[in-house]
Amino acid sequence: MSCSMSRTEAAEMILLLSSALGVSAPGMRWSDRARRGRYGLVSMLIVVGPRCWRGAEASILHEFAHHVVNVRNPYRWERGGRINHHGPDFIEALRLVVSEWYGMASYPWGTEYASIRRSVAGAGK
Ligand SMILES: [Zn+2]
Repeated sequence: MSCSMSRTEAAEMILLLSSALGVSAPGMRWSDRARRGRYGLVSMLIVVGPRCWRGAEASILHEFAHHVVNVRNPYRWERGGRINHHGPDFIEALRLVVSEWYGMASYPWGTEYASIRRSVAGAGK
């Protein structure tokens, strides 16, 4: 699925993850131009597409983890100071999302930020 995911498959994946994890579904915009996934904290919109460098499937999992963090604590970003968007709460959410979707071993951890790779490797996949 990761090689050539379609818009329909992406939308279905987001609904399946939302249902499995018990969160409201984020919106999705399928973009043929997007080179990387994006997630809007306010719009709750995942932007993803077939040209995303790490692949649409992994991009959705990463952006969906941002959504899980956002839904769990929507006011986190209002409390002032800098937000660490890829901090411990994000890593926990990503592990949850990846485990739910296809298991920790299937995710391309090599495409992640170094801090995330270190954290996951340290915890043991
Ligand atoms: Zn991110």
